[in-house]
Amino acid sequence: MPTRKSALLDNFLDLARIPSPSLRERGVADLLAGKIRALGHLPREDGAGQALGGDCGNLVVEIPGKGKGPRLLIAAHMDTVENPGDPPAKPVVEGEWVRREGGGILGADDKTGCAVMLEVMARLGADGRGHGDLTFVFTVAEEIEALGAAQLDTELYRDREAAVVLDYSKASSLVVAAPTKVAFRVTVHGIAGHAAFPENRINAAHVMAQTLARLPMGRLDGFTTANLGIVRSGTAINIIPGSAYAEYEIRSHRKDVLDFHVKRVIACVEGVVRENRLFLLGEDSGMGDAVAVPGEGIKIRHARVDVDVEVSYEGYRIPDQAPIVEKLGKALEKSGLTPELTVAQGGSDANIFNRRGLESVVLGCGMYGAHGADERANLKDMAGAVEALLNLIGGDGTSRRGGTGKKCGR
Ligand SMILES: [Zn+2]
Repeated sequence: MPTRKSALLDNFLDLARIPSPSLRERGVADLLAGKIRALGHLPREDGAGQALGGDCGNLVVEIPGKGKGPRLLIAAHMDTVENPGDPPAKPVVEGEWVRREGGGILGADDKTGCAVMLEVMARLGADGRGHGDLTFVFTVAEEIEALGAAQLDTELYRDREAAVVLDYSKASSLVVAAPTKVAFRVTVHGIAGHAAFPENRINAAHVMAQTLARLPMGRLDGFTTANLGIVRSGTAINIIPGSAYAEYEIRSHRKDVLDFHVKRVIACVEGVVRENRLFLLGEDSGMGDAVAVPGEGIKIRHARVDVDVEVSYEGYRIPDQAPIVEKLGKALEKSGLTPELTVAQGGSDANIFNRRGLESVVLGCGMYGAHGADERANLKDMAGAVEALLNLIGGDGTSRRGGTGKKCGR
């Protein structure tokens, strides 16, 4: 049976019209739950919403096996990045493409994946093929470091062979690697005061500016990138800011390279802050912690810094010969697609599942321009992902050896 493009499209449009930024996925979850029940399956919600302070948990649908087939977990995320003003999207269909009227965040990332999962559930067993035990998971909070997937009870997938996460562009893209990302949250503490009386003050914004200017930025090497995402300081032009805050990230496919850069960044931040000191002679402002220099009659004040370093997610590299890569590759070929083994530059729920011992790959499902002003969905890719998943689930992705015709996207 060919993929029912109209059902795929209708479901995608229904999902895209409901705003669902991270931790506010309730509307989309209720819509999905209704559609899943109408298909005869029983969705349930876990406690991730409560744990994360959101309005909704992960939606889980367990479908017992009927006949042969791999035991799989299949996942997509319900949340999207924030949309300014959060208005409902007005999707416009142009041939195979869906865009948001006037441009902006459509929510194709990852409502294409959610629509693909609905369609797979709708067609499960319809062609007479059996399937193994399946767990479908619609996660929350993926866009904020995959916090929803991290809340998922690992018992749910203890006996699953592998996971396929729908969260990429082309349906032929089989993502086998993703980087580790480290987030730095830097707070510089200076000494606040009036702009006209700068004596004995330390301008935290200025110290932060010196720090940021020395940090590595952009493409650092073939494996690694760095980005400064947030800088905040100050309340008025005539006030010396007492604190400044920045968020910075480094992501890399190489752990040793990442470790090198992390150490370098911390040393850089601490070094700049140490350079920013005041020698206090005579009257002290009485603010902050002054250090007395014994016998010299002077005191020294430093800027201070707090650096919070956190691994947002751990990277992974699934071998090309892994059973799930071979099976999904074969299933793609059977769907008329040439598998392209791909290295992603971002994380996804697959990072969490891999970290927890469930071998996971990411499959493209028709989202393009994710997070950007020209985000759009491609119906042909969505249909391709449905066919590939049905072939995989139906056991058509039997393991093979030798030449595969795979193209490598790395
Ligand atoms: Zn995504």
